[in-house]
Amino acid sequence: MQNLWNEQEAAQYGGDLAQCVYASRLLGRDKSLVLHGGGNTSVKIQERNLFGEDENILYVKGSGWDLETIQAAGFAPVRMAYLLKLAQLPTLTDTAMANELKLGMTRADAPAPSVEAILHAAIPHKFVLHTHADAILTVTNTADGEARIREIYGDTVVMLPYIMPGFKLAREAAEMLPSSLSENTLGMVLLNHGIFSFGETARDAYDRMIALVTRAEEYLQTYGAWQVPFVNVHRTNRALRQELAELRREISEVAGFPVIVATHDDDQSLAFVNRQDIAMVSQQGTATPDHIIRTKRLPLLGRDVAAFSTAYESYFAEHSPNAEQKLTMLDAAPRLLLDPELGVVTIGKTAKDAAIANDIYQHTIDIISRATNLGGYRSLPVSDAFDMEYWELEQAKLRAGGKPPVFTGEIALVTGAASGIGKACVESLLARGAAVIALDIVPEIVDLFKRPDYIGLQCDVSSEAEIIQAIESGVKAFGGLDILVLNAGIFPSSRRIEALPLAEWDKIMRINLDANLVIMREAHPLLKLAPRGGKVVIIASKNVPAPGPGVAAYSASKAALTQLGRVAALEWGADNIRVNMINPNAVFDTGLWTEDILQARAKHYGMSVDDYKTNNILHVAITSHDCAELVAELCGPLFAKTTGAQIPIDGGNDRVI
Ligand code: ZN
Repeated sequence: MQNLWNEQEAAQYGGDLAQCVYASRLLGRDKSLVLHGGGNTSVKIQERNLFGEDENILYVKGSGWDLETIQAAGFAPVRMAYLLKLAQLPTLTDTAMANELKLGMTRADAPAPSVEAILHAAIPHKFVLHTHADAILTVTNTADGEARIREIYGDTVVMLPYIMPGFKLAREAAEMLPSSLSENTLGMVLLNHGIFSFGETARDAYDRMIALVTRAEEYLQTYGAWQVPFVNVHRTNRALRQELAELRREISEVAGFPVIVATHDDDQSLAFVNRQDIAMVSQQGTATPDHIIRTKRLPLLGRDVAAFSTAYESYFAEHSPNAEQKLTMLDAAPRLLLDPELGVVTIGKTAKDAAIANDIYQHTIDIISRATNLGGYRSLPVSDAFDMEYWELEQAKLRAGGKPPVFTGEIALVTGAASGIGKACVESLLARGAAVIALDIVPEIVDLFKRPDYIGLQCDVSSEAEIIQAIESGVKAFGGLDILVLNAGIFPSSRRIEALPLAEWDKIMRINLDANLVIMREAHPLLKLAPRGGKVVIIASKNVPAPGPGVAAYSASKAALTQLGRVAALEWGADNIRVNMINPNAVFDTGLWTEDILQARAKHYGMSVDDYKTNNILHVAITSHDCAELVAELCGPLFAKTTGAQIPIDGGNDRVI
């Protein structure tokens, strides 16, 4: 484990709180120490209050902040005297404790203090750091974890048995710590949970954390438990999108809302799911109850979808008789499948949830594999995991979420998505909660957005094979397809019919028309499985109802595409798939229109650029964003009963009206 402390960097963080910020960020950078909120830090600072009295204040990590990016404002200032008094109470519910922690703050607008605040207060050192280090979880998730911790650390750490984080743990620690801390003590190990280090400076506390965790890692290496070879990695050539979409449909039906189903078939995932002892090692619970993922293994996907769905249903029935609780229940339901062909499959209400479940499980794979090497992985009894899952604070957090965006859990595919109307559609769909598969011929599409609900794939839509491959990859990322936006197209330079070569005509037809046939054909079986029905929007053109001279090929291609969409609306209505067209005109904020071209065109008509841009009945400029918002709304509930429509977005055109 690398010590990342850098004196030059640290010098830029002046003052005790800033030093704590720096140490926190260093911890947050190492995912084997801190993953998705699994850790917290604090510093004790004396301050003078309004009445001129000196008070000891615990600045502890506030909820909603990530250690990797935390700032001073992310720490909640809580009065030490109040915290230590709370620790004396015989009992306190966790909800009441959360309330008291807020009441003990010196700043009303600070974030809610970490539930481990009292525990931090009980440790009589200035800086306190806490992580759920993988190496500690690996060693303690074994049959003789306690003895191994003793073997590694001797009396330099205090050890606490597993107690669920909350008031009970804080009270236990507050009671035990004063008598068990000695001059030798460098830290505290909480079995099956994590590790604390402390010191009088941020650097001391940080150095100790790294040194302590490094000793656990070295212990694992000494016992040959560290290396996990990737064996049995075999990647299938079979197309899996149809089965995945069926699986997602089944799970969504039981859950009562669309879900994201993300597959991960990297070497580590495939090697793990193909372990000979996978049935045993995967069913032994989570590494720490903080990180709940219920596992269900499907021996063979496809044959067993129904069995999985039944298991899911009975899980809901057993734990949530109340239907409206289902949304919060998904966080407790099985959200992980291990399949020899698919790898690790994670399920979430959003792509972010599914990505977090995967991050956590990848670390769990390390922990399980190494603990197994060490002699056997053994996690807490299921009852402890259940307590954590149904912890009143967790449930309250889930309920506080509010109404999710309209396309939460739905998956959209947009073509020509790197710029102009396509890119704007990606933004409008993401803003409404959809996960987006974005296709474009330019390589920039891959990194256009860096977020878990976006996947950008470079794809030449004139290649049937590339389209099929892109759809396969997109569905493996998110599980299916609900929304299809056909935007990719080319607009050639002006040419009259008598000078139009067949090759140019063919190229335009290939991209503007044929490619969309292939995408629609391949998308249909997936859209048919969309939990809330499939939606297709075709970006056609004003040129369909009102063609212009010099653009025969373009106008003919968009007219044919519109006709294709109208037939699709007729054919696919019975499959609950809606198909609508929009006819934009004069959208000038796309890559096609440079300032020079705009000026030339305006001059040609004897207009100013502004007049040229708003040369329509309403005298308004039409932007890519305007078109994208219309596309997104067409996919939403407002147009739930509309199919086969052609909607102009052109500011009003007297040739169309
Ligand atoms: Zn913890």
